[in-house]
Amino acid sequence: MKTLKKIIAATLALCMLLCFAGCGEKDDNKLIMGTNATFPPYEFVDDNGEIAGIDAEIAQAIADKLDMELEINDMEFESLITACAGGSVDMVLAGMTVSDERKESVNFSESYATGVQVIIVKEDSEIATVDDLDGKTIGTQTGTTGDIYCTDDYGQDFVKQYASGALAVEALKNGQVDCVVIDNEPAKNFVKANEGLKILDTEYVTEDYAIAIAKDNDELLKKVNDALAELKADGTIDKIINKYIPAE
Ligand code: GLN
Repeated sequence: MKTLKKIIAATLALCMLLCFAGCGEKDDNKLIMGTNATFPPYEFVDDNGEIAGIDAEIAQAIADKLDMELEINDMEFESLITACAGGSVDMVLAGMTVSDERKESVNFSESYATGVQVIIVKEDSEIATVDDLDGKTIGTQTGTTGDIYCTDDYGQDFVKQYASGALAVEALKNGQVDCVVIDNEPAKNFVKANEGLKILDTEYVTEDYAIAIAKDNDELLKKVNDALAELKADGTIDKIINKYIPAE
């Protein structure tokens, strides 16, 4: 009887130990990235159904440096900041622009890339510059800086929001909007993939992309900034960006 009790006690102890070890490992070692994989070349779903792109590769390089396992959560762009602030993702890489409004909810790492808001129109459009946007219907991706600027500058009635840039571009092709305001690199991808569209040769706003991290996670912010600095210094970031954005 005594022996049986000992065996049960030992088994229980072992189970608890394994559980703790297992749980600890899972929490400490996973680095969860939130993104919206409709933003090529920064993030998109590749032919194998995997999330690929500049942000996915930079996140992987950071995870490798920190000796952590990267997990990517794909969600709506407009949910990313809330998910990050609430801790359901550890960091956001989504071609995300640093803005004062977002800084009220999250912290940002050092910047790793630049974006420019540009205007996509049909090839035969009468819109030639930013000045022609007044009174036109503008397509945007909900919650993006392009969406916010256009709503501020031209009024909500003139802005139609879509769940992704690709859907906004579809709406442009169908004549439901007169133009799309979106970041330059995805714009180039969408124009290449669709006939009859062009990007106007006028820049709307230039912005910095950075990694968003919860305000109460200074430890991760520091680690990510250190890793980013190393990856910039050794040329990894440039290499990743050049792979997806060949020099013109
Ligand atoms: N750079 C823009 C922003 O931060 C768009 C990003 C995106 O659509 N993924 O709002």
